[in-house]
Amino acid sequence: MKFVRSAAAILALGIAFPATAAEEVNVYSYRQPFLIQPMFDAFTRETGIDVNVVFANKGLVERLQQEGANSPADLIFTVDIGRLQAAYDGGVTQSIETDALLANIPEAMRDPEGHWFGLTKRARLIYASKDRVEPGEITSYEDLADPKWAGRICTRSGSHVYQIALLAAYTAHYGEEAAEQWLQGVKSNLARKPEGNDRAQVKAIMEGQCDLSIGNNYYFGLMSHNEEQSAWAQAVNPVFASFNGGGTHVNISGMALTKASPNKDNAVKLMEFLASDLAQQMYAEQNFEYPIKADVPTSGFLKSLGSFEEDKLDLAVIADNRATAQKIVDRVGYDE
Ligand code: FE
Repeated sequence: MKFVRSAAAILALGIAFPATAAEEVNVYSYRQPFLIQPMFDAFTRETGIDVNVVFANKGLVERLQQEGANSPADLIFTVDIGRLQAAYDGGVTQSIETDALLANIPEAMRDPEGHWFGLTKRARLIYASKDRVEPGEITSYEDLADPKWAGRICTRSGSHVYQIALLAAYTAHYGEEAAEQWLQGVKSNLARKPEGNDRAQVKAIMEGQCDLSIGNNYYFGLMSHNEEQSAWAQAVNPVFASFNGGGTHVNISGMALTKASPNKDNAVKLMEFLASDLAQQMYAEQNFEYPIKADVPTSGFLKSLGSFEEDKLDLAVIADNRATAQKIVDRVGYDE
């Protein structure tokens, strides 16, 4: 796949850049186009800067590494602290700090050195059967290891980035040994071997295979607004579970400036635009996520589910505990 831009084509022919070359910014995205395109269109309307997007399911960090200094990409968009950390670890990001970014994006939701920034927030919930779990019967992540739930829990693979982040948060709170005991307890309570995605677990609850699952909050919105899946959503109560003495685990979708960014000024303009009020509200609502900017209102649908206390761990701390979490998953043999 190639960015096709007139300025680039002219340059390739050895003709000098016209002074009026179209302004542009190039994005590599793991996020689906429908989620980000409306904000990019709004940015182009406001600034006249074109946004070119390459979308892929995987391999963008490797691609950036291969392209090196010649990469046309300015920004990388992805979900989960794990994938942002992978971009940083891959050496394809650069640090950027501007007053607007620092003011609009909370400290806990960005890299301390400015290599990645959160843009939307997603809470990791417990989904509980409406028929078989009383409201208030489970309120914490710790409870998932309680033997009373034996044979009643469904989850996706323990190695998925969403599960790793939750376990990394658990590890940051309680230490490696306690985290391993907890995960062993959760494994003991599984109704089946981990399989499928977050939504598949809710479907399994509807089908009576299990009574509890773990899943991100926006899937409740997506299922509720999907003809086939609304019955799945209706079978469960979303529970804003929290750590005892802490809050609900929150992860992010986010962005990073690439190391080789050829259109850095425009890239920074786009980053700041996406952290602004208008884009924040649009972006979060596209996917039933929460705005990252503190004073931007949450969508009506999410408000109707209730409010919650966010866990206070910095995402950078969670990122630091990811490798340990993966080792725990392997030692426990969670997926086996
Ligand atoms: Fe997701």
